[in-house]
Amino acid sequence: MVVKEVLAKSVLSKSKIFDYVVNPYIGCRHGCFYCYARFMKRVTGHREPWGEFVDVKTNAAELLRAEVRKKKRGRVWVSGVCDPYQPLEEKYGLTRKCLEILARNGWEATIQTRSPLVLRDIDVIRRGEGFEAGLSVTTADDGVRKLFEPGAPPIADRIRALEELRGAGIRTYAMIAPLLPGAEGLAELLPGKVDYVLIDCMNYAYADWVYRKHGLEDQRTDEYFRKVVRRLESLKDVPGRFDRPPGI
Ligand code: SF4
Repeated sequence: MVVKEVLAKSVLSKSKIFDYVVNPYIGCRHGCFYCYARFMKRVTGHREPWGEFVDVKTNAAELLRAEVRKKKRGRVWVSGVCDPYQPLEEKYGLTRKCLEILARNGWEATIQTRSPLVLRDIDVIRRGEGFEAGLSVTTADDGVRKLFEPGAPPIADRIRALEELRGAGIRTYAMIAPLLPGAEGLAELLPGKVDYVLIDCMNYAYADWVYRKHGLEDQRTDEYFRKVVRRLESLKDVPGRFDRPPGI
């Protein structure tokens, strides 16, 4: 694992998903096999495999403090091409510092992570007006999680994190994307723990070899996606925003 401390030029970038995105790190220790953010390897010239390098933007908080003063206020996605609560966050606390700045200046934030480390920052998240926190929960089967996301925290820890966040009065969501095999059981795991769910199918080919190696191709079809969507849609207390493949 190669960890490098770097000085970034800016940290509050325009985003197509929300108004802005903040990435305190480049690279992600979770190293999910399907991760679309691996294009950052090419952009930054890293030669290590995805998941084995992280650049730490040590000046992220200073930059953000200055940038929120200059830019028009909006909603900030934390984060887009890294997990803001990957293990290094425990040491550096950059995500926490950025959230504190956003909260103090009245900016809204949508946090997205696979890690229960987000629970450390419940105090800040509660302070932030219009803050919400989401856990990516791609399957209900931790055996499947180990095949596709071996470096990311167990599913049970993510579900518990959602429950605790919501119990603390924070608006929560589950990001079921990309939908992995064994996701049907999420219909039993999520009710009462989230305000809404987002679901999308696997749009990237990086992990095709995992499906093939373990004979899981039948759970990558439109039919399988439709089946899981229907199960989730039938839950009255879990409103969803469902991105569907054409024809569904
Ligand atoms: S946690 Fe997110 S950013 Fe990190 S490797 Fe997995 S999909 Fe990519």
